[in-house]
Amino acid sequence: MDAATIAHHLRVLGGIARSSQLRRRGATGAQLARAVARGRVDRMRNGVYAVSYLDPTVRAAAAHGGELCCASALRHHGVWTLEDPERLHVWVGPDARVHRHDGCRCVTHREDGRAAFGVVSVVQALIQSARCLGSEAFFVSFESAWHMGLLTSADRALVRQGLPARFRYLVDIARPDAESGIESLLRLRLSRLGIPLECQVLIARVGRVDFVLAGRIVLEVDGRLNHDGPSLRHRDLVRDAEAAAAGYETLRFDYALIVYDWPRVERAILAALARLR
Ligand SMILES: [Zn+2]
Ligand SMILES: [Zn+2]
Repeated sequence: MDAATIAHHLRVLGGIARSSQLRRRGATGAQLARAVARGRVDRMRNGVYAVSYLDPTVRAAAAHGGELCCASALRHHGVWTLEDPERLHVWVGPDARVHRHDGCRCVTHREDGRAAFGVVSVVQALIQSARCLGSEAFFVSFESAWHMGLLTSADRALVRQGLPARFRYLVDIARPDAESGIESLLRLRLSRLGIPLECQVLIARVGRVDFVLAGRIVLEVDGRLNHDGPSLRHRDLVRDAEAAAAGYETLRFDYALIVYDWPRVERAILAALARLR
């Protein structure tokens, strides 16, 4: 078997496989060594081979000893997640050995089943993320995956079934129309305070605002960098003035405040609501 054919078999197997899987497809040890020498295939460690352009997170998970899973698998599938991208979540199965590798900060998952290499499914990753990262991280990723069209109704039922009972209501209150993780997170946190949230609301003379809370507070999430300059700053001030004239109070937060400093945001929202009442 030539090097190109071995690379083809690896692609079919998800880009990475054990030598035993490749031997079952007809490759000999000498042919594998030749494919490595030609640079068509990488030898990850004894008995594990990969295509040379394998995704670096999938490669690191394999170096750790398993499959990219949980928040890392969700990010790989394009789904929103609150987790730090530098922390890889790797499923190795209940008794598998974990390997040392460069820069390892991995979170090892030991759920039942037979882990191989590659990336777990969106359904499996969502279920893992609930137990590993909690209700908010799960909810944000679940709504994002649904919005992206990655979850059929059968998939959603499977996720619900796989969750601990205390998390199942999150599937029941989730919606497919959330346009960002921030929106999902805000809606969940505000619903716990009994505050309704509207998204992408058009206000006369102001334009489209990110969120309106309880019909009275405009909440804008600032994701912009400073180099956007004074013209946008001026435009924001004009919008705030028009919103105030229309009877709204505007609160501005950035991603870091909402995600990492929620008590401060919550105090500001509750005080603004008290003033407006
Ligand atoms: Zn995890
Ligand atoms: Zn690791």
